Amino acid sequence: MTDIKSMNIDELTEYMDSLGEKPFRAKQLYEWMHVHLARDYDEMTNLSKTLRGRLKEEASLTTLKPVDIQISKEDGTRKYLFALPDGNMVESVLMRYEHGISVCISSQVGCKMGCRFCASTIDGFLRNLAPSEMLDQIYAISRDVNERVSNVVVMGTGEPLDNYDNLLRFIRLITDDNGLNISQRNITVSTCGLVPRIYDLAEEKLAITLALSLHAPTQAKREQIMPVARTYNIEEVVDAMKHYRDVTGRRITYEYTLIAGVNDSDEDAEKLSGLIGSKLSHVNLIPVNPIRERSYDSTTDKGVLRFKKKLEKNAINVTIRREMGRDIDGACGQLRRRHMKEG
Ligand code: SAH
Repeated sequence: MTDIKSMNIDELTEYMDSLGEKPFRAKQLYEWMHVHLARDYDEMTNLSKTLRGRLKEEASLTTLKPVDIQISKEDGTRKYLFALPDGNMVESVLMRYEHGISVCISSQVGCKMGCRFCASTIDGFLRNLAPSEMLDQIYAISRDVNERVSNVVVMGTGEPLDNYDNLLRFIRLITDDNGLNISQRNITVSTCGLVPRIYDLAEEKLAITLALSLHAPTQAKREQIMPVARTYNIEEVVDAMKHYRDVTGRRITYEYTLIAGVNDSDEDAEKLSGLIGSKLSHVNLIPVNPIRERSYDSTTDKGVLRFKKKLEKNAINVTIRREMGRDIDGACGQLRRRHMKEG
């Protein structure tokens, strides 16, 4: 089956041509998929019955089915478990902020990166998501709440830069002004630090925000919790981020998950400041969300504030990640794991 939801308008026009259809049909089809977020060819009432029949036979209209939705009573955060067309499952999260709705999507089924504190990687990697499967996480949520999504963070399960071509195609489609037209500035991609891909991404000259999951101030400490650090060392990856900042002019983000006794000392804060510097960057501190499978404890609120102050003394911009959906939250990847065990 042809994955038409992953096609850009030129490719779709060519495809319509191969079916003997005029270019304006491609426009109509594109609009049904990416503006009206149609779930079924039969919704596309301005296409002929014959064309709809043909499409049903040979083109898949990738749509994800919600299997479970958990809704926070505290702040309206919604955590979705979606079934993909092949029966695999991925998680996505909707968060409400003053400036709009933000959706966090997954980029792969499972993950091969092996970060010690993360639940998404425990069962390993299954496959990459297609662009259409990344898009439809947002489309399905938008349909469910009947509201426009304003921000997208690629921070769910998976390593987006390990699915580079599909990620780029996804970004181009979601920001296309003939589609949902989400601003590139409202898109954040989070990576564990695949250095060559960071350099590649800098060349794309996109206005998206790049976030690095740094999580440690030294090579020795980073290696302990993030196996990827054995392939790309900490200086290399921070240099790549600075290159991205300089080439794009975009402020970069360093994510730093605070784990009690592992990376949250005063000395860690000093070393972190020296490593990253204060130019056009900011640190997002995240108290680790402890997962059942590992014995990591999160830093106390007081400890988090202390760490923040230390960084601020060195002129570094710091935010503390607001915890959303605390009452529904398992850590990233836990909803899917629970269902896999039950299923
Ligand atoms: N692979 C990408 C994106 C997915 S992980 C990356 O590494 O950035 C998204 C973010 O959640 C990362 O910063 C990751 O380190 C963090 N994370 C994963 N498990 C966590 C946990 N148990 N507590 C806090 N943050 C976690």
